[in-house]
Amino acid sequence: MAAIIIKYRKKPAKIAGYEALLKRLPAYHPKKEQVEDLLKSTNAGFGGEERLDQLMKYFNPDYPYLIIQDYSISANIELQADTILLTQSCVILLEVKNISGRLRFTINPSTLHQTTASGVERGLKSPQVQMEMAKWKFEKLLKSLNISLPVHVFLVIAYPNQIVEDSPPGSVIWSADEVMIRLQNFKLPPKILSIDELHRFGQQLLSLYSEFDPFPLAPKNNIHPSEINIGVFCPECKSSKMNKVKRTWMCEKCGLTNPEAHHQAIHEWFMLIKPSITVAECKNFLALEYVSTARRILNNPLYKKVADNKTKKYYLDMQVDIHEK
Ligand SMILES: [Zn+2]
Repeated sequence: MAAIIIKYRKKPAKIAGYEALLKRLPAYHPKKEQVEDLLKSTNAGFGGEERLDQLMKYFNPDYPYLIIQDYSISANIELQADTILLTQSCVILLEVKNISGRLRFTINPSTLHQTTASGVERGLKSPQVQMEMAKWKFEKLLKSLNISLPVHVFLVIAYPNQIVEDSPPGSVIWSADEVMIRLQNFKLPPKILSIDELHRFGQQLLSLYSEFDPFPLAPKNNIHPSEINIGVFCPECKSSKMNKVKRTWMCEKCGLTNPEAHHQAIHEWFMLIKPSITVAECKNFLALEYVSTARRILNNPLYKKVADNKTKKYYLDMQVDIHEK
């Protein structure tokens, strides 16, 4: 049976956002380390999920199934699952963790303790509680769709160098390497849905899918917009700025020219500051000399113009996915 992945994982938009935030925070900014940690853990999480996807490449059970990678709903019920396996008899949610070092679970209260290679211990949110919440939310969702499938949740440890010391009682933790075989041998409960109903259910879930919007990152991390460095940065040297020279931008350091470099800076504004930009804000953020240049830059199909009283605001046209590479 061919692999039936009805939604594929893509790189979280947050990663580009945190990179832009780090680039634009002044050196020695007190939040720098915190943002670096967020970027590191988001990258690690994505890496762990991609590893599981890779290991599931040859998944070929003798039961019909559908897979949804990276699912979220942000409407009435806020729900997130790293991987969902839909079968005719049950729903299996996989929660992938990629946290390095020794992992020790404690209860009362439920916490995950991480001891890094350098010996630093820190407490993290309990994946156990997160899984129970995901199960409960998913059951609620199924009820609203009139689907009475049981829901199972499994915690997946992405890399073998993550050592789990005390797993919480009653929990099942799999290593990513064993997920495929465990799922293939999984004793499925009796069938409830027909094949057609399974596919309809998959499509229903996809139609409810909505991406969790992590932006704008500055206010979400309690950073004031005035603390964000302005200007257009060089796509090559990353941290050096470009100057407007006639119809193009030129890097102060490497001399690279790029007539479209301002679009990246405007995307960064949307990711960091707020979802709209005015001509005046654009002139200031790109450090332009003339308002007319800002107006010309924003009059581009990439941006949607919305008149709000007297001020025209520009939004990113959501039809154009800036994170798609
Ligand atoms: Zn450069």
